[in-house]
Amino acid sequence: MLELRNVNAAYGNIQVLHNIDLEIHTGEIITLIGANGAGKSTILMAISGVVPIRTGKILFEGKRTHKMSPEKLVALGICQVPEGRRIFPDLTVMENLDMGAFLRKDKAGIQEDLDYVFSLFPILSDRQNQAGGTLSGGEQQMLAMSRALMARPKLLLLDEPSMGLAPLVIKQIFEIIKMINKEHNTTIFLVEQNANQALHIADRGYVIENGVITISDSAENLLHNQDIQKAYLGI
Ligand code: ATP
Repeated sequence: MLELRNVNAAYGNIQVLHNIDLEIHTGEIITLIGANGAGKSTILMAISGVVPIRTGKILFEGKRTHKMSPEKLVALGICQVPEGRRIFPDLTVMENLDMGAFLRKDKAGIQEDLDYVFSLFPILSDRQNQAGGTLSGGEQQMLAMSRALMARPKLLLLDEPSMGLAPLVIKQIFEIIKMINKEHNTTIFLVEQNANQALHIADRGYVIENGVITISDSAENLLHNQDIQKAYLGI
């Protein structure tokens, strides 16, 4: 579904991604783990067209995408839930969800997806007329994910969905990520500091250090890799 080949990216003179090679197959959950500042968000933003790449190729379903605008990429089926949620705090829950569907005209499909996100997160249905900014952190994460699902993505990019949330809410969010993948045919690319939880739901994982992919393996092998255990799993 998605291929990055030899991708390099920089902010001004500072290169932050070095020759990134990565692939995601349809139906997978792939996780990218790494320390603060390693370049995880930059990879997601390069895929979603927010950060331009300097050299290399990004291919989505065989098409080169790296010169396309973020809107075009959403229309193609790539949707990102950014770090820190970035919901619209002054808009209601319902208006936030409408924003997620802004490129769509298929009313029946939009209603179907609204019913789907309300079935995943019934609390959002209860709060649909409430301003997004008044929701708890966990509810805002649910809203950010739902807003992305309203675009009916083929590939959902999730940047640190567990950040700042209580353990029980994190558990719920991870269970729902798995459901979205298995029951809603959505391929997932999950960037996480919470490597343990991420590797438990992922099929495969990549490790990034200082802008370089250093390991690529099955999630199962990564969970049992002693270097990973020491560096990222606190074992
Ligand atoms: P975190 O988990 O802390 O978000 P990350 O792995 O997602 O880290 P990035 O946010 O991709 O890392 O940052 C990679 C590097 O690029 C860091 O050194 C960071 O300081 C730098 N960087 C990120 N955004 C910018 C920007 N807009 N301008 C300049 N440098 C940036």
